[in-house]
Formats: sequence, structure tokens, C-alpha cells
Amino acid sequence: MKVSEKYRHIGYSYPGVPNGWKPIVEKAIIEIEKEMWPRWIPLSLKRKIHYWATGNSAIRIENTFWHYLRSKLTRNQIITDIKDKYATLRIYGFYGESIGKIVKEAEKSCDETCESCGGKEDVRLSDYGWVHNYCKNCRERKGPERVRKPKPKKKTKKKNTEK
Ligand SMILES: [Zn+2]
Repeated sequence: MKVSEKYRHIGYSYPGVPNGWKPIVEKAIIEIEKEMWPRWIPLSLKRKIHYWATGNSAIRIENTFWHYLRSKLTRNQIITDIKDKYATLRIYGFYGESIGKIVKEAEKSCDETCESCGGKEDVRLSDYGWVHNYCKNCRERKGPERVRKPKPKKKTKKKNTEK
């Protein structure tokens, strides 16, 4: 079973991020689930409660009773989106300190990891017309980065002296 299916009761569980980051995000999803839900409830039942409560949506209330129960069990915690933005990882939702810590660590880990190959060597934001977080090898493979020229200063009006 895919991580995205197995842990969908966290709210949003698709690691829709570049391949190099998928292992980091999947690990974070598993850790988030452990903090969000009581461990004594079987995963299959937690998935059902989430489904009855929200219809597997991170924002909808499908059934008031089950939603109330879900809120009680998770202490009102839910993940609403996982994505990469400007070559950094973002995990959005409503969560407390312990999940916040997992999120921060995953974001930091992605900063240090090549989004394409998962490599760690000299990883930094790289400009190919679109920003990517690439390692040294991937930058060499992609060729020269785009050089952005600094914006030209406003020209002072030249006086026409030639007439
Ligand atoms: Zn790479």
C-alpha cells in the first residue's frame, strides 16, 4: 500500500514533490501520523473515521458526529497541503508543536537535498528560468544557469545637443 493511501487520514497525504524529496516527505508523513492520531487505533479504522468525517477531503465536513470524533482524537490537527514552492518544501495545515517540529525538520532536510536525484553535494537554489534546488552534478548536467542581469538604472535624460 502506498504511503499516500495508508496515511490519508492525516488529511493531505500525497508527496507531490520532486522525486529527490519523496523519501523525506514520506518519512515526514509517517511521523506526522504518529503524532496526530492515537497509536492504539488500527490504521484501517483511522482511515475509516477520517473518511466518514471528511469524505477524504482536508477541508470538508462530511458528517458532524464523525468529524467531532476525528477532531477529538487528533486534537483538531489536520494536514491540508504538501507541495514545493520556489524550490522549498511546504507542509500546510493545522497542527501543534510536535508536528510543527517534524515539518520544520523535513523542510530543512529538503533544503539540503537535491530535488532531482536526492544528492547532497553542494546543494543550492539554481536558476534555470525556474528555481530548482539542485546538487553539483545536476547543475553540471543541466548546463549553465541563467544569468540575471541587474536591472538597468534609470537613464537620465540626455540633452539633445546635436542640433
Ligand atoms: Zn542532483
